Amino acid sequence: MSVYSLVIHGGAGTILKGEMTKELETNYHKGLENALDAGYAILEKEGSAVDAILAATISLENNILFNAGRGSVFGKDGSQEMDAAIMNGQNLMAGAVAAVKNVRNPVELAYTIMNKSQHVMLNGNGALEFAKMNKLRLEEDAYFYSEFRHNQWKQMQGNDETALDHNIIIKDKKFGTVGAAAVDIYGNVAAATSTGGMTNKQYGRVGDSPIIGAGTYANNKTCAISCTGHGEPFIRAVTAYDVSCLIEYKGLSLEEAMNVVVHDKLMKLEGEGGMIGVDTKGNAAMVFNSEGMYRGLRKSDGTKMVLIYK
Ligand code: ASP
Repeated sequence: MSVYSLVIHGGAGTILKGEMTKELETNYHKGLENALDAGYAILEKEGSAVDAILAATISLENNILFNAGRGSVFGKDGSQEMDAAIMNGQNLMAGAVAAVKNVRNPVELAYTIMNKSQHVMLNGNGALEFAKMNKLRLEEDAYFYSEFRHNQWKQMQGNDETALDHNIIIKDKKFGTVGAAAVDIYGNVAAATSTGGMTNKQYGRVGDSPIIGAGTYANNKTCAISCTGHGEPFIRAVTAYDVSCLIEYKGLSLEEAMNVVVHDKLMKLEGEGGMIGVDTKGNAAMVFNSEGMYRGLRKSDGTKMVLIYK
């Protein structure tokens, strides 16, 4: 019997204590705790890492505070397009969805693509069709709307910047993407990531989250990783896979590898954000180069924490 653990994130960025109300902080804590509980309950019953991360990610998608599923950010054209991915480290199977609208739980769609299609990634209308075919739950635009995200977008309307948009909102430079990584009692690892992407993004823009190896990766030989941050540098750095490579080829520990990638390699590309990860031995780590990252972990050795700031 090995150590099992679950680690989650709800996005990284300029999250400053001074700008947070007590009530909001409590709600973020509750949201993270609920997601941890949902995933951990599965691990405790000797369930699989895949099922645990799926449950944790769905819980975060359903929470309007996070930029994934309900509460996703608005793109330049005022629409909410979502990206998500899931990967099973046991067999290297993966599923991903890009720029999809109206699917209540994009990570569930990624999971269904992994299990029921011959493909790894579907996008846009094709992804929506596949969701309908598999009777996944759809929602009207109104379900995804949140005043907070709409205001963020309104602040940026008329601005022609796309990828680096969040840099303009100096006071609110947050990436609210969600993700989870777990290792189960059998030593299998899995990771998932889900996001609305970046505020005011170009219609059709796809970030790192659904790209296997960039925002999401899992391999039983090494680790499972879910990233959050400014997607473009994360794609160029092949971030999640790089952590796995440093472990596999250089013999680094999980945390050492994550530190190299987040504090050295990403910094050189001005890649702001962070990541969470587990390895097959039950280690879990949460590393970021931004002011804060919504994050939490729970392990079978009794460790339990939920944190926001540095
Ligand atoms: N990485 C995501 C993206 O670029 C954003 C985030 O992590 O919040 O789409």
